Amino acid sequence: MKIGVLAIQGDFAEHILMLKRLGMETAEVRLPPHLDGLDGLILPGGESTTIGKLCMDYGLLEPLRKFGKTHAMWGTCAGAIFLSKDARRSQPLLGIMDISVERNAFGRQVESFETDLTISELGEGGPYHAIFIRAPIIESVQGGAHVISALPDGRIVAARQEKLLATSFHPELTQDTRFHQYFIALAK
Ligand code: GLN
Repeated sequence: MKIGVLAIQGDFAEHILMLKRLGMETAEVRLPPHLDGLDGLILPGGESTTIGKLCMDYGLLEPLRKFGKTHAMWGTCAGAIFLSKDARRSQPLLGIMDISVERNAFGRQVESFETDLTISELGEGGPYHAIFIRAPIIESVQGGAHVISALPDGRIVAARQEKLLATSFHPELTQDTRFHQYFIALAK
């Protein structure tokens, strides 16, 4: 299996390392032809406005939308914003996942935090330690999307719609490989 990571801006290198640890073949995606032969694609954290604008410049928006219709795609943080249908402001989005997000919902960089989450879809292994960095909240899920994790106050931080996955937090910055394994299973 081969999993790509959009490598235009953000923490794509950390995702690649995690995938390699799990024995995956990987590819850095910067141009449309780099999608050929991939089984799934990760959209990393970073700055969603920058990622969107650069994807527009590199002619990647339509090829990514097409890829996401038939393949597994996972957005972490800025990547989740990029996947969403609505970020309540004008910026280039893929718009393929039935979620609405609120950017920077926890405040500024200094308000970044870590917390343990319950994520039953990950199976065994206990609570999942999640890292939030200027993270978005998934305000609502619609259509085919469902919630896979929320904070104790009910705010949604992870959702899935068939092979599309969105997380507000950064599994690539932990040593816990469960989320990447979960995504690889979706891509199979
Ligand atoms: N705040 C960024 C955005 O709105 C996301 C931050 C991140 O990916 N860690 O795009």
